[in-house]
This record gives sequence, structure tokens and C-alpha cells, in this order.
Amino acid sequence: MQFPACTQPRRQGFDRSRLPDPRAYYATELDALRGHGRSATARCPFHDDQHPSLSVNLDSGAFRCRVPACGSHGRDVLAFHMARYGIGFIAAAKALGAWSPTR
Ligand SMILES: [Zn+2]
Repeated sequence: MQFPACTQPRRQGFDRSRLPDPRAYYATELDALRGHGRSATARCPFHDDQHPSLSVNLDSGAFRCRVPACGSHGRDVLAFHMARYGIGFIAAAKALGAWSPTR
């Protein structure tokens, strides 16, 4: 995985290092979270999930739903928060405490 700096828009005020720890974040956001090590599964909040279909990486915060009709996925808790609550990048960053108003 790579993050070419030239294609990333400048995110004024966003401080990725202040995003919550994925392990703690998902423990409060997801139902039936279980697993060990760096990966866990939980009921997917993006569709009517009867089984734990959502896989999350507790180190990176990446998530992916195994149900093809749902297919929700993202690379970190910020992407999850945006999708879960239907809000934009800045609103999600502020909600997670990762936005600094002054730079
Ligand atoms: Zn799903």
C-alpha cells in the first residue's frame, strides 16, 4: 500500500495521529465484536446483519463486510465513522477528536 503525497489533497487541520485507537473505537461502535490478535468480526452496521459479517483490522482500523450485496469497506476508523453516520470528512474528523481548528 502506498500513499503518494502528490495525489493527496491537503487536509488542513486534520491530525491522523489523534484518531482513536481502532480497538477501543470498534469496541464501543460495534455489536458482537469478537476476535483475537489484530483481526475481529462483528455484526455489520451497514446492512441487516444476522451473523458477524464485518471484518475489522484492530491495528489499522480497516473494515470490510463479507456480504457481497453490502460490500461496505474502508481503510480506517475515519472512513467507518463517515459511512456509519453519513457525514463528511471534516465532520467525522471533528467527531473523533482528530481535527485541530488552528494550524
Ligand atoms: Zn454489511
